[in-house]
Amino acid sequence: MSDYRMAIIPVTVFQQNCTVMWHTGTKRAVIVDPGGEVGRILDLLETQELQVETILLTHGHLDHAGGAEATRGVINEAYERLGWARVPVLGPDERDAPLLAQIEAQSARMGLQGLVNVVPDRYLTEGEVIETIGLSFEVFHCPGHSPGHVVFVEKTARMAFVGDVLFKGSVGRTDFDYGDPAALISSIKDKLLPLGDDIRFICGHGDGSSFGAERVGNPFLQG
Ligand SMILES: [Zn+2]
Repeated sequence: MSDYRMAIIPVTVFQQNCTVMWHTGTKRAVIVDPGGEVGRILDLLETQELQVETILLTHGHLDHAGGAEATRGVINEAYERLGWARVPVLGPDERDAPLLAQIEAQSARMGLQGLVNVVPDRYLTEGEVIETIGLSFEVFHCPGHSPGHVVFVEKTARMAFVGDVLFKGSVGRTDFDYGDPAALISSIKDKLLPLGDDIRFICGHGDGSSFGAERVGNPFLQG
């Protein structure tokens, strides 16, 4: 992991943790959840001289996916001129397709601007592995916060991108029409925690933590 660096850019009024992770040698990068403020994301790519390979989405909420279309568009326009490979948006699970199609309507209701609907290049399913920037991100379908939420786990690096499934000391909200509190807790307890206490995670909002620290100390996961 010493060959890799990460930058977390909190985007939108929701301060969503858009993460850019890259290999310090090859400068190849992956972007997770470019929710908005695309200019700030692009600035980082330019400052660090990164070449993006993949854009990953954990779920369809506007603060996670609202900048994906613009990020993909700007990058691919530039890369086409350079003869570089096209960058795909991968994920979430197809069950979040309705949310990705409601980003503009939702953000208009909230008085937010600049967030755009997105159709991924490919939806993801549980068990597949995304090979990018020399790492292997395994896909876990973790519904409850949203029906198609996925979590990306890199088992060698012992790190995970958990979106809004799990937080330091809390769990994702489930008070939406499609929310499912039991499914959320089961996603965490049955799929994520068994992967190992030492796995550290970056979550959608606030500080990250580890599966072990949350297994022991997270009040929503006791009993
Ligand atoms: Zn969310």
